[in-house]
Amino acid sequence: GTARASSSTPASESQKLPPGMVLDKDGKPCRLCTSAASWRAMAKKASAASSATAAAAAVATIPATTSTNNDCPPDVEQLGRSTWTLLHSLTAAYPTTASNEQQTEMRSFLGLFSKLYPCWVCADDFRAWMAHPSGKNEPRLSSRAEFGQWMCEAHNAVNRKLGKKEFDCNFWEERWRTGWKD
Ligand code: FAD
Repeated sequence: GTARASSSTPASESQKLPPGMVLDKDGKPCRLCTSAASWRAMAKKASAASSATAAAAAVATIPATTSTNNDCPPDVEQLGRSTWTLLHSLTAAYPTTASNEQQTEMRSFLGLFSKLYPCWVCADDFRAWMAHPSGKNEPRLSSRAEFGQWMCEAHNAVNRKLGKKEFDCNFWEERWRTGWKD
């Protein structure tokens, strides 16, 4: 593939890409797959070369900060934080015991989510994690307790991949549903 700024990217392209820069499947820079910092680095390079590349065209849309309070399109981190808020909130609002229909609906949501998540590299890895051949990462949907725990494990798999600290899943419900006990 031509998509990641990695060793699998053809040299001609990877030379132009700062670390962390991810391309869309059509070869254009994928903002929703890239951190604001890498995006800015790319834009700097592009304007230095003052070439009429897709990167140069992107300069005008660089977020000044990664704060959640700007009016700019999200980078991979802002999209991630917002999405985890939605995903954990779905588990918080899930029934204490779920009917077959509720389980089927959530399974179908997760299947579509993992195909449609707009950071495509994130989506590919998340889908692969869910589909682990052992079956150990299949969504567990029989109850809120099970689903909340599963989502916490899913988030921890991404945390590990990114070299972040893992979250203690005993506390998922305090973080996302009840609030912290004093
Ligand atoms: P986040 O990881 O966004 O977490 C937000 C808050 O959730 C934390 O502050 C903490 O309070 C809480 N939390 C943390 N861990 C857990 C847990 N295990 N259970 C419950 N609560 C928790 N980014 C990439 O760069 N590459 C990727 O491949 C990638 N894949 C992703 C896949 C998915 C499905 C999603 C939703 C996001 C992905 N991201 C990816 C984004 C990444 O996970 C983070 O959202 C982003 O890096 C911002 O991280 P953060 O440190 O602000 O906290």
